[in-house]
Amino acid sequence: MTMTGKIVKGIAGFYYVYTTLGLVECRARGVFRKEEVKPLVGDNVELTLISEEELTGNITRILPRKNALIRPASANIDQAMVIFALKHPAINYQLLDKFLIGMDVRKIPTLICFNKTDLVTEKETEEIRSAYEGCGRKLLFVSGREKEGLRRIEEALKGKTTVVAGPSGVGKSTIVNALCPRAAMETGELSKKIGRGKHTTRHAELFALSGDTFLMDTPGFTALSLPPMEKEELKDYFPEFAEYEEGCRFGGCAHYREKDCGVRDAVEEGKLSRIRYEDYRLLYEELCAQKRW
Ligand code: ZN
Repeated sequence: MTMTGKIVKGIAGFYYVYTTLGLVECRARGVFRKEEVKPLVGDNVELTLISEEELTGNITRILPRKNALIRPASANIDQAMVIFALKHPAINYQLLDKFLIGMDVRKIPTLICFNKTDLVTEKETEEIRSAYEGCGRKLLFVSGREKEGLRRIEEALKGKTTVVAGPSGVGKSTIVNALCPRAAMETGELSKKIGRGKHTTRHAELFALSGDTFLMDTPGFTALSLPPMEKEELKDYFPEFAEYEEGCRFGGCAHYREKDCGVRDAVEEGKLSRIRYEDYRLLYEELCAQKRW
């Protein structure tokens, strides 16, 4: 019997495929080795069932991939959800913007989830909303602890395969735990092992929230580097700048120190977020420093 499903986990040569019958334990036939294609978590595959009772089978074909990520090793990721806390810890804007740029380069849309609304005033929340509303990503404001806004997260994840990421301490596991307890537990274990310096193979695993909604949690990160690019390209990752560029006197203006810069004027006039602009400058300087080496 031939059927299709999605690989949710791969361990030691076995692939676990989520199907309408349940989780089928599969081997990939030798043909993949010849083609040098390795099945990835997230792959949609065709499989032949060997035993319907034991739910074992052979993967016979990998269906065309929409995309493939190296870290975490996965395929067909529809979107990323990055979680930051509004407070405790304070938002590290550079880290957030680097994450957004990294996903843009991979052409993966990102949802930004700002957690811990219960720790800040409405005014502080609005400040962050206005800073990021022009950045072209969907924003979610939630309180994992108070279970506020979780329904909106579920709606945003529905029907998609989403990678969840965020720095340590932002309350990611509280949110993931509310959405899918098993995912949070296993990522927590993994983080602990990495923390202890053990040699852990970071295996990606997808958790089904429903038949067509999958979630992949990832261990908290502390630092990110910018993807390789020319410093002139950086502004393309700040889409809200574009409409003010016609006010720049010089073509190819970097909006850094140039005179008569429409973008800098817009920041001064409060039309563009100072938070985002200052971050742009810091990242621009980081790219300038890289070039010298
Ligand atoms: Zn400019």
